Amino acid sequence: MRHQYKADGTWDVQDIVTFMFPVSLKLNVIKRVKNESDRTAYPLIKEALFNGDKTVLDVVKENQEYFASTFDDISDVGTKMNICYLNETRTAVNEHVHGDKEIKKGQKKMILKGYIKNMTRNGTYVLHSVSRCIFKDDSGKKYNLTKGQYDLFELPYCWTSHAIQGMTITEEMSVFDVRKPKFVTKKAHAQAFWTAITRATTLKNVHVYVGESGAKNLSVASTIKRKIAGHKEYDVSKGFYDEENFVDERWVRKELKNVGRRCYHCNVELSWTGNTQFSIDRYNNDQGHTKENCSVICVSCNKGKH
Ligand SMILES: [Zn+2]
Repeated sequence: MRHQYKADGTWDVQDIVTFMFPVSLKLNVIKRVKNESDRTAYPLIKEALFNGDKTVLDVVKENQEYFASTFDDISDVGTKMNICYLNETRTAVNEHVHGDKEIKKGQKKMILKGYIKNMTRNGTYVLHSVSRCIFKDDSGKKYNLTKGQYDLFELPYCWTSHAIQGMTITEEMSVFDVRKPKFVTKKAHAQAFWTAITRATTLKNVHVYVGESGAKNLSVASTIKRKIAGHKEYDVSKGFYDEENFVDERWVRKELKNVGRRCYHCNVELSWTGNTQFSIDRYNNDQGHTKENCSVICVSCNKGKH
């Protein structure tokens, strides 16, 4: 039995918490998780999230070993199930996983994130006609919407922690926004993260993005810029750098269009993330990353060549 009073007669709050929580923590956790690592990790993480001064990011870093991985570059996201806190993150992650800003007719599982009368919020729909803005639900019922309402739908690759409450996720997933946005309280942020990771059947399915949040860090434009910046650094270090003819964001986007968004080596559809993401490949490695000397191919083929 732990002491509930300190020597001076005041309550020892931390002690009461550790006295009271283990049982309820274990009961909650054992129902969901199957392996020993998770049985150790979940109570530790819960305790650290809710009973102390640590930020979510601190807690993730301290308990890194229990997660599948942590990563800080959005291009490394390899999961089709992703959970975030902010809507702008949701849009950015969807775009990265989808690989194309354009959403075509027949796109399955569009998620209604806003409110439209007679339609289920967070329900799934098929985009039946882009130009006429018609969606179908699972039963085949059609909804004829206005252009403005189109923006209330999202691709299905990223959900907010708010939307996935009550869901069980058996596939691998990534969690975003572990750096606390300024306008969110510490407790609400911890709660959102806890909701996200407790959807998983094991933490070994959970990857955590620990890089900077915010649209400007997660956008496709910044991914292209980051790659170009890396190539510039390389070219400068090798004495190759040719400022006038150096590849830029506009060239990358145009080149992607020219190749029909496919890798000319393996014909895979190029995306912004994972093994099929675009990369800038030089024809002649004794020259720099100039427009004449480069093409876009998938990152796997590019790595395979060198
Ligand atoms: Zn390829």
